[in-house]
Amino acid sequence: MMRCVSGQYYIIRASIEKGSPQKALLDYKAILFSGTIQPDHRTLSSILDACKILLDLRFATSIHARIIKTGFQLDPSVLSSLVTTYVASDCLDRAYRVLYEAPELSTDPLFGNLIIDGCTKSGEFDNANRVFKQMSQRDVVSWNLMIAGAVRNGRPKEALSVFRQMLGLNFRPDGFTFSSVLSGCARTGALNEGKRVHQLMMENGIELNSILSSALIDMYSKCGRIQSAKQVFESVQRNNVSVWNAMITGLAIHGLALDAMALFSRMEDEGVTPDSISFLGILTGCSHCGLVEEGREHFDLMRSHYSIEPQLEHYGAMVDLLGRAGFLEEAYKIIKAMPMQPDMITWRALLGACRTHGNAKLGEVAVEQMAHLNSGDCVLLSNIYSASKRWENAERVRDEMKKMGIRKKRGLSWVEVGGVVHQFKAGDRSHPESNSLHEMLERLSQRIKMEGFVPRRDLVLMDVSEEEKEGNLNLHSEKLATVYGIMKTSPGTEIRVSKNLRTCHDCHGWMKMVSRVLKRIIVMRDRIRFHRFENGSCSCGDYW
Ligand code: ZN
Ligand code: ZN
Repeated sequence: MMRCVSGQYYIIRASIEKGSPQKALLDYKAILFSGTIQPDHRTLSSILDACKILLDLRFATSIHARIIKTGFQLDPSVLSSLVTTYVASDCLDRAYRVLYEAPELSTDPLFGNLIIDGCTKSGEFDNANRVFKQMSQRDVVSWNLMIAGAVRNGRPKEALSVFRQMLGLNFRPDGFTFSSVLSGCARTGALNEGKRVHQLMMENGIELNSILSSALIDMYSKCGRIQSAKQVFESVQRNNVSVWNAMITGLAIHGLALDAMALFSRMEDEGVTPDSISFLGILTGCSHCGLVEEGREHFDLMRSHYSIEPQLEHYGAMVDLLGRAGFLEEAYKIIKAMPMQPDMITWRALLGACRTHGNAKLGEVAVEQMAHLNSGDCVLLSNIYSASKRWENAERVRDEMKKMGIRKKRGLSWVEVGGVVHQFKAGDRSHPESNSLHEMLERLSQRIKMEGFVPRRDLVLMDVSEEEKEGNLNLHSEKLATVYGIMKTSPGTEIRVSKNLRTCHDCHGWMKMVSRVLKRIIVMRDRIRFHRFENGSCSCGDYW
């Protein structure tokens, strides 16, 4: 039937393109069965594509064996299909082996790039790094994948260091590089680095498309420079909604919900249609500021005027907004009216509100609804029981947690000193200047205690923070980063710290006191918003 090699290739290709990879595998089996023609490199590549679509690892493995038997393992197209198939099937080790069994080809960055891409997408940044280091040739794509991968895997500091290496080796960054680096700067609050990147973009004549404009606005606002963010916003093309969204979200995390709403109206006036992210920015902004009425209005506007169906996040934001402001029953009503299954975050928002406003009954309802308890929820539930003196129940929940081996997230904070970003983990002793840092922290904590600061020890027992509990609240990462900033800068210099989680009450109070005693402005951005501590009070008005 199939007399020529091209014939078999076209048949298989056609099956894949028609969306029946399963049929391609059958075609291939038929070819082998007929025994007249050996599959060529194009056929083998195509059949691997079919395996990739079907995630059929067993079939791919048998093709791999045939490739070796027939000597096609040095064919670039076959090799690349093999590597991508293994990467897609999450067999990164195999992909890696294939590559290094063909050293002649491993000089082509394409293959290393495929593996780096696969590794960073499946959260294996260290493996990506290993491959990256072993590559004899790298191209801009390799660097971009590493930088974007580091950011995606929550390692923004590494993204910045890879970027510096890239520049040191005279690779020319492109728009992709810049958008990832800016997002690394935004996460760590590395303002000086971010400014340098902005400068470099201008020097390289990089055109500010909507992605880069949004990234710049996001960087400046997350690094505490809302004015610079506004300047960028006013100077770029604003016909894409994502640029407006970056600005609205920026204003919201700065606690400027009214400005965010004004910008929202201006967007409507300028003929740009808001999308679901615009509304999410507005709702979270209202939530941080307790603007209940405005939040309700925009939530209604979404559907009535723009026909945007609220998604899970919007419902979550509304529940948070209403719950914090004490409208617990209304928040619960929203949850009950949700067309989709409420997620953990939504229930947790209600549960958190129940704790704040002391409603154990509704708190229990929330917990019952949670199919899978995670650490934060267990802690909340246990707190609710403790508060109503139902000690046995509280203890049972804690035992359950231990059995499930749940841990909280590790807190990370960053402070930029002299243009270099320093990272601190909760309880960290790994920093080279750890000893003097801890001494200074101890001294400072003593001093503010004398000035009247009372550590919130109850938080160790009644912990609603997101962070893994440290025996000593003194060792939360934001305190370490702040003290490091104080140590390394001259008196009066503003300290800017960024944190990956929401800050706890103890650290918040501590920062307020330190700002008064040392007469320093401390600006801390946590996962939720900015806090600007000055002379003993915070810009959030203790509502966050
Ligand atoms: Zn803390
Ligand atoms: Zn605050």
